[in-house]
Amino acid sequence: MDADSDDFEESFLNVCPICDTLKRNDGDPDEWISCESCCNWWHVVCAGYTNADIDDEFVFFCNACN
Ligand SMILES: [Zn+2]
Ligand SMILES: [Zn+2]
Repeated sequence: MDADSDDFEESFLNVCPICDTLKRNDGDPDEWISCESCCNWWHVVCAGYTNADIDDEFVFFCNACN
């Protein structure tokens, strides 16, 4: 068993600023988008979008960066 606990070394702000939910690695990645500018993660729905809005060309800027 490897009990290394260096999971927190890459500590981006992986918490949705709207609902304060932590983005888990085992969660559904389709539910999340990251701001192109500050790299914070938001729920698609909390950012005001739906999955239908998100395609390969989609670029997200959060409220702070918009
Ligand atoms: Zn959220
Ligand atoms: Zn941003």
